[in-house]
Amino acid sequence: MTSLADIAGVGTDPRRGGYSRHGFDRVELELRTWFTEEAGRRGLSVECDRNGNLWAWWGAPGDGAVVTGSHLDSVPGGGAFDGPLGVVSALEAVDILRAKGFVPGKPFAVVVFAEEEGGRFGVACLGSRLLTGAIAPDAALRLSDSDGVTLAEAVRAAGLDPAGFGPDAEALRRIGVFVELHVEQGRGLVDLGVPVGVASSILAHGRWRFSISGEGNHAGATLMVDRRDPMVAAAQVVLAARRAATSVDGARATVGRLIPNPGGTNVIPSSVDLWLDARADDDARTRAVVAEISAAASEVAAEEGCSVTVSEESYGETVVFDAGLRDKVSDVLGGVPALPSGAGHDAGILAGHVPTAMLFVRNPTGVSHAPEEFAEADDCAAGVVALASVLEELAR
Ligand SMILES: [Zn+2]
Repeated sequence: MTSLADIAGVGTDPRRGGYSRHGFDRVELELRTWFTEEAGRRGLSVECDRNGNLWAWWGAPGDGAVVTGSHLDSVPGGGAFDGPLGVVSALEAVDILRAKGFVPGKPFAVVVFAEEEGGRFGVACLGSRLLTGAIAPDAALRLSDSDGVTLAEAVRAAGLDPAGFGPDAEALRRIGVFVELHVEQGRGLVDLGVPVGVASSILAHGRWRFSISGEGNHAGATLMVDRRDPMVAAAQVVLAARRAATSVDGARATVGRLIPNPGGTNVIPSSVDLWLDARADDDARTRAVVAEISAAASEVAAEEGCSVTVSEESYGETVVFDAGLRDKVSDVLGGVPALPSGAGHDAGILAGHVPTAMLFVRNPTGVSHAPEEFAEADDCAAGVVALASVLEELAR
């Protein structure tokens, strides 16, 4: 048996609550070791690909495999389920299939993708983006964490060779189909009254960095009329994000991270960096929301005597999951509902290359990316049984 309880003590965050487990940090490496041991106990052979993703093969590796899995990293102060539930469920699904004597007729692997949340280096789905070529390796390796450690340095410290990072046609060819089980990050299944559903689509979404520069100065000695305060502009960008997203049906815009420089209570900051996460049903709406916020940022920065630059750090177009696979999965499960996902996933990155599907497990509060994220044990068990059924059908 493998369960989330096995890793409940790894990476707890006493300051934020919940878990902080980030790509290639000490905690995530400990979870990788745990995964490798769990896979090994089942006789699966584990290998790390060129981009730091872990693959546990049931039988010989090969092209066109049935692949399932998720990620082990979290957002800062995240919940216990986002990511690890998909990994644990994959291992448990293998147990169910083996117990009934099933032998896959195709290559079969459980995968753990690296740095899915972008919690350390800022770009979500980093492992799957690198593998598929959705991000250039040079740009990725230059990304740095809040301590200034670059991805290249971090992976080297983890024993990987950054020179090998980049598009991996061989690894991609090995994926025939990918099925990711995930805790639902909304209340769709609660409202429908069912424990398990399938994903229909993923919103177009991205991250943008707004760097606002003004004049650093003394909080007491500088008259209000003399200030060029980038924090005042930043505050208005936050409000503009709320306004812009509210005016577009289904759009979401969030500023969850803001860093004033130098960051002293009695100091007018010289600059403020803030990060915008924006999402909507399609690319045009997402772009329109970001354009409106960017225009507002230029305006409020100018009013404050500041300047602003906006840079796109990552972007993913709307993903519509393979309809044939989605219907097949739903049929195997006796007709479960299909739901859109407001959250991005490695399955969304891979969907542009191979048929992918997602199973969602009911989340009673809908809260995710927070310590309160939850799924009932019975629903998690239903998810494992559903995943096993789907994998059995796909790998027979
Ligand atoms: Zn996730």
